[in-house]
Amino acid sequence: MRITRCPRCRAEDISADAHPARVLRGQTGTVLVCRSCYRPAELEYRIACENAGIPYTTLPIRDGLAALRDFYLDRLAEWRDPELLLEDDEREQGAARIRSALADVDRRARIAPVDSD
Ligand SMILES: [Zn+2]
Repeated sequence: MRITRCPRCRAEDISADAHPARVLRGQTGTVLVCRSCYRPAELEYRIACENAGIPYTTLPIRDGLAALRDFYLDRLAEWRDPELLLEDDEREQGAARIRSALADVDRRARIAPVDSD
């Protein structure tokens, strides 16, 4: 089975459960981490901003969803890779949880403000 480890703790598989956090390496970048690393990573980013005198702002939701979408699409492409010697049903099973995570991202991206009148 294909796994993508969380770059922060190197323990969790984030291929179908990733969370966008920021890092400050010269400039602000987005990194996808596991559920348990998300808050500590964002706090570290906040502290780094403060130390560097950069105003902290939260990641716009649309940008976070776009990063997640790209990440899940890349993971799906990995499962489709013909170099990966798998039976069709194994391939299908492996990709299913990523497809479901991607569907959730798309659902959240479609949530629009409700008209007030
Ligand atoms: Zn982690």
